[in-house]
Amino acid sequence: MTRSNGIYPFVIEDPDAAPSARSGLPVVVVGAGPVGLAAAAHLLDRGLEPLVLEAGSQVGANIAQWRHVRLFSPWCLALDPVSVRLLEQAGWSGPDPDALPTGADLLKRYLAPLAALPALASRIRLHTTVVAVARRDLDKVRSPGRDQLPFQVRVRDRDGRLADLQARAVIDASGTWTQPNPLGASGLPALGEADAGGRIAYGLPDILGADRGRYVGRRTVVVGAGHSAATSLLALAELQQQAPGTEVVWAVRSATPRPLVGRGSAEADELPARGRLATDLAALVEAGRIELVSGFRIHTVEPAIDRVRLAGDHVQGDDVIHAQNLVVEADEVIAATGLRPDHSIAAELRLALEPALESPTALGPIIDPNVHTCGTVPAHGIAELAHPEPGYVVVGMKSYGRAPTFLLATGYQQVGSVTAALAGDQPDAAHHDQGPPAAALCTINRDLLAGVQRRHHLLPSAPTASSGTTATLGGTAADWSAVTCCPSLPG
Ligand SMILES: Cc1cc2nc3c(=O)[nH]c(=O)nc-3n(C[C@H](O)[C@H](O)[C@H](O)COP(=O)(O)OP(=O)(O)OC[C@H]3O[C@@H](n4cnc5c(N)ncnc54)[C@H](O)[C@@H]3O)c2cc1C
Repeated sequence: MTRSNGIYPFVIEDPDAAPSARSGLPVVVVGAGPVGLAAAAHLLDRGLEPLVLEAGSQVGANIAQWRHVRLFSPWCLALDPVSVRLLEQAGWSGPDPDALPTGADLLKRYLAPLAALPALASRIRLHTTVVAVARRDLDKVRSPGRDQLPFQVRVRDRDGRLADLQARAVIDASGTWTQPNPLGASGLPALGEADAGGRIAYGLPDILGADRGRYVGRRTVVVGAGHSAATSLLALAELQQQAPGTEVVWAVRSATPRPLVGRGSAEADELPARGRLATDLAALVEAGRIELVSGFRIHTVEPAIDRVRLAGDHVQGDDVIHAQNLVVEADEVIAATGLRPDHSIAAELRLALEPALESPTALGPIIDPNVHTCGTVPAHGIAELAHPEPGYVVVGMKSYGRAPTFLLATGYQQVGSVTAALAGDQPDAAHHDQGPPAAALCTINRDLLAGVQRRHHLLPSAPTASSGTTATLGGTAADWSAVTCCPSLPG
């Protein structure tokens, strides 16, 4: 059955339809991150057969690379309720819903136990990289019968061997972590950036842990204006306390870096931990412990003996015409300039991408970071995620393309709607589009976790734990509309 979302048609599976070439095939999920695993749990919940293909050696392989980082949202916003129910049946003892997990906690306490459940474990293949997805027997140009054909999913195993699998549908939850934006202000790598690779770390190095030796007693410039940049700056400032020769420079494109704008206090912020991050950073800049270089548009990375030199325009406000040349020299560079999606695996499929963000076209306007923070993105589902290629859907972090405002809560909502559509449950697919805002998800998870704890006799058999839940987070559902929560902004 085909339904139109007003923009592109997409196929809703009809469980009563006659067997087709796709019958009996699994739904392939690309990536075993939190959203991919949630997709698998939702598929099982709906009686559909998932096959999760994960490039890494473990589930949550991308999160493992930022395991030392504490999330800015609490457990109750990091859990998928359908997955929690599966875990609960297996005797899982859940975390404190108000605590802020680190990436390592997320892996150890949630993703690893979830993936170990027999129903899921047998359906996850590690060390399996999806290199391409196409329609079996039809290239991108050919249309007749396209909807009825299965997908051909080409995978590479750990020995480099290629193989083709078939799938009735493909849910791409492969994230964007491995595609960092470059330092260049234009979006192109700065000239010389590739050659200086040894002195540039992309993302979130473990400054106080495994990577300490690289930064201690040295001068590091952090480029970017999001929470990834803020997290690295605070870690460097702590290192500076331990080793006073450590110098910290913060380079941003804008006149005032975003974490310092607006609601920068623990009291004013809905998420106190994130508010503290902004106030701490502002205090460090004011105290001169972090040297702030604003209005810096990087064009070249020049080699210097044992150092690296970032050169570009120094812009006052938005006055690019009268920009001055500026050079910033450092021992190390941390590029926290955001992430972008890699759609190359879908080159033989028919995609419709929003031109600026590279998200699905219909999703673009409602996640546009020029207009929205993560808290103001409306609930959405299959209608906004569908591509002209029926049965191929991108969910999770990758669905947002270059927009830095993705929240796990949104990803869980997306897979609820997508799997409902695949199961032929049209009302539920649409209902999920209207699904709960973040604060409501917290309430649902809080109730589930309270049930788990009661069963473990950690709580008295008192009534629901949900009363006053959002108050603990310092806000109602409406307050969440003011949340700004971007892990990485281009600067
Ligand atoms: C530092 C940081 C902090 C964050 N904090 C929060 C927070 O507090 N709250 C919040 O809600 N969100 C937060 N986010 C945003 C987001 O929720 C996370 O990025 C989350 O990990 C996204 O989940 P995902 O499943 O979409 O993608 P990922 O976690 O990136 O998982 C993608 C998976 O796909 C695999 N993969 C990739 N390519 C392939 C391929 N071709 N074939 C097979 N497998 C592949 C990867 O190995 C990986 O396991 C944060 C993000 C970052 C980077």
